[in-house]
Amino acid sequence: MATMRALTFDTSRESWEGSKGMVVDRVEVPTLGEGPDQSCCIVRVRYAGFCGTDRGIWWRKSMGDMVLSSLAEDGATKRTFGHELLGEIVEVGSKVVTKYGYKVGDMVSTESHVVCGACYQCRLGEFHVCANDRIIGVSMDGCFAEYVKIPAKALWPTDLSKIRPEVAAIQEPFGNAVHACQITDLRGKTVAILGTGTIGLFAVLIARGMGAGKVIGIEPDARHRELASRLGCDEVLVPTPAPKDAPWTPDPALRERVFELTDGVGVDVAMDMAGFESSVNNAVRLARRGGHIVLFGLRNGDTRIADFHRIIMDGKQLHGVVGRRLFQTWEVTRSLLENTQNGVQDAVWDVILNKGQGTIVDAATFDPAAFEDVMARHTKPVLRWGG
Ligand SMILES: [Zn+2]
Ligand SMILES: [Zn+2]
Repeated sequence: MATMRALTFDTSRESWEGSKGMVVDRVEVPTLGEGPDQSCCIVRVRYAGFCGTDRGIWWRKSMGDMVLSSLAEDGATKRTFGHELLGEIVEVGSKVVTKYGYKVGDMVSTESHVVCGACYQCRLGEFHVCANDRIIGVSMDGCFAEYVKIPAKALWPTDLSKIRPEVAAIQEPFGNAVHACQITDLRGKTVAILGTGTIGLFAVLIARGMGAGKVIGIEPDARHRELASRLGCDEVLVPTPAPKDAPWTPDPALRERVFELTDGVGVDVAMDMAGFESSVNNAVRLARRGGHIVLFGLRNGDTRIADFHRIIMDGKQLHGVVGRRLFQTWEVTRSLLENTQNGVQDAVWDVILNKGQGTIVDAATFDPAAFEDVMARHTKPVLRWGG
C-alpha cells in the first residue's frame, strides 16, 4: 500500500479531550473502488486553507462530537482533517466523466458539505441545509494530505488563469461570507460587520463589491481593525467589552456612534460574524427598525437577548446563515474573484493572505509547535502540499 503525509487525529493514539493539535502522520493513499467510489475523484492537493473550524479542532473546542461519532459509525479510528482546497484531479471514478463532466487534470476546489440529495431539503434544492450532510475533514477524511477522495458532486471547477491558486484554495470560506452577504440585497445599504476576523474581512470586501453604501466594521482587536480599514470599511469602531457578570449586555456608546453615522436611523443590515453574546446583542441594537440581522458567528450554549420585545416591535428580521448555497453562492464567489476591476482578489491576496508572507506554510516540513505561532500571527494560514 502506498502511503502519504497527512495531518490526523487517531482515537487509538490519543483521546480527544486529552490531546490537542494535529499529528503529522503517514496514511494510505486513497483509492477508488466500486459502488459509491464510481462517482468520486482522487484529487492531488496543492493548497489547503486552515480556518476557524480547524482552530476549534486544534484546541478541541469544537467538532469533537462530529469527529468521534463519524469515526464510530465508520468503524475507524483515524481522521484526516482539512476541508478548504485547491487541487488537481488525478483519478476519476467510472461514472464521473459522463455524470459530472470532470476529467483527469482538471483543477478543482470543493464544497465542504457533502449532501445526500434525498432528504426533504435536498429535494427542495436547499442543499446547504441537507439533513444528512457530511463535512469533509470532519466527518470524512479531508485535504490536509497529499491526496483526498471526494465525491464529484461536491467539486467546483476552478480556472487558474483567472484565480491564483492560494486564493482559489479559500473559495469555500470566502463563499461563507458571500452567502451571508446574499441574505438581503446590499446595494446602496448601510452595513455593520461585527467581528472582522477572516470571514468578517471577506464580508467587508464582498459588501463593497456588491455595492453597499456604507460599511462599518466593529472589532476589538487593533490588528484586525487595521485590516478592515485597508479592505475598505468607511469606519471601524471599537466596542466596549460587556461586564463579566452580564456578558450579553449591548454597548450603548457603540449604538450612539453608529446612529450618528447613519443619520439617526441605524444600519440596514447588521452582520454578526463573532458569535459572542454581546456582539449578537450589539447587532440587534445597531439594525434600524425593519432592518436585517444576519447571524453567522458560532458559539455553543445559550445566548441571552436584551429587550427581546424590541425585535418584534421594531420589525427586525433575524437570519441564521450556514454553509453556501449549492452552487449559487459558488457562482457569485467565482464572479467576484475573477472580476479584474473590483480589486477583490488582489485584496484577498495582498491583505488577508499578506502576499503569502508568513501565511503559506509548507506541509512537507509542517511542525505543530511552529504552526501554533503562525496561527497566532495570521488570520488565514494556507498549507502548501503540492505547490
Ligand atoms: Zn473552513
Ligand atoms: Zn439531504
